[in-house]
Amino acid sequence: MPIPGHIDPVPVARALTPRSDGRVDLMGLSKDALREALADAGLEPKQAKLRAKQIWHWIYNRGATDFAAMTDIAKAQHPWLAERFVIGRPEVVEAQVSVDGTRKWLLRSDDGQDYEMVFIPDADRGTLCVSSQVGCTLNCRFCHTGTMRLVRNLTAGEIVGQVMLARDALGEWPSQPEGRMLTNIVMMGMGEPLYNFDNVRDALRLVMDGDGLALSKRRITLSTSGVVPMMARAGEEIGVNLAVSLHAVTKDVRDEIVPLNRKYGIDELLAACAAYPGANNARRITFEYVMLKDKNDSDEDARELVRLIRHYRLPAKVNLIPFNPWPGAPYECSTPERIKAFSNIIFEAGISAPTRTPRGRDIDAACGQLKTAAEKKSRAELDRLAEEKLAALG
Ligand code: SAH
Ligand code: SF4
Repeated sequence: MPIPGHIDPVPVARALTPRSDGRVDLMGLSKDALREALADAGLEPKQAKLRAKQIWHWIYNRGATDFAAMTDIAKAQHPWLAERFVIGRPEVVEAQVSVDGTRKWLLRSDDGQDYEMVFIPDADRGTLCVSSQVGCTLNCRFCHTGTMRLVRNLTAGEIVGQVMLARDALGEWPSQPEGRMLTNIVMMGMGEPLYNFDNVRDALRLVMDGDGLALSKRRITLSTSGVVPMMARAGEEIGVNLAVSLHAVTKDVRDEIVPLNRKYGIDELLAACAAYPGANNARRITFEYVMLKDKNDSDEDARELVRLIRHYRLPAKVNLIPFNPWPGAPYECSTPERIKAFSNIIFEAGISAPTRTPRGRDIDAACGQLKTAAEKKSRAELDRLAEEKLAALG
């Protein structure tokens, strides 16, 4: 059994997605990697450099999926490219729209793995909730994704492919600085992004490149359950906003609901937050806190949360998430009155603590609901896994 907290316990998929027809999918390649792919296929270095620049722009700025559309590349070269390369998109198995406008897509990879993405439109923004893994190894007790049997890291191409597909669906090509529907990205879909660091970093670099998708790092948020050793690198090498799934303020409760806490405890986690590069009063760290009835929702918990934030001098805001139940979930959501009282204590301490409105509940798109039809682990199996992990941690 992998030990929670061990870096990257998931087999890392290849950067170049192999296809059954032998062609190479260019999705997810950096400009340099694209140039190398063209050179490997036989283009002269100078040609490869120029073509890479052109093709990259067509892919990420124009949304092209067909070489024939690339008007600044000689027509005679189009078939040569198309024989060797494709510009792929994840396969859409199912697309659903909620009564509140939230959209959810069930996607499938070439090797038949299912993952999901969600688009949440609001008056002033549109947020895409992106997955980083198929399933998740961390088994937080309140999270549906943690019950999935299969786990695999998504490739950079599969991660940025979600953003590309959303742009296709929203009709947002070419990339424009103004008037977009898709304005924000949150790495809050399936999986733990810091267990798939390289692919998440490479994908987000593509998303942020001013020549391509051109989303500002200020509009991207990475959510982690607390993979402490990777947090500084996330700040330095990706530089996006940080959200931390805190969910509890005592060791006992956090050990139970976020098992990774047995490896990286609350103090270590908050110290890493205090050191997060780029966090300041203008760019606060979001602490996510799922409201579980009689588990983590007392006035005392709220006061302890305030104390911790002050103690570590954290530029923080708190996001209270009403627990979304799923069949067989071992918890219930706190009452609205309890959530209000909890939120008030934090507000009164001068810290913003809004409650997240669940979106897309009718299509199971709400936070923590993301879970495909993939084989589920039984309750007994989950308990056994939790025991094994506990034993492995000593
Ligand atoms: N693995 C990362 C990001 C994906 S989960 C993380 O844990 O931060 C995104 C957010 O949804 C996390 O804060 C997670 O704790 C929360 N979440 C998971 N299951 C939930 C549920 N059933 N109800 C409400 N929020 C949930
Ligand atoms: Fe994984 Fe995040 Fe779910 Fe925990 S809450 S099991 S880290 S996806």
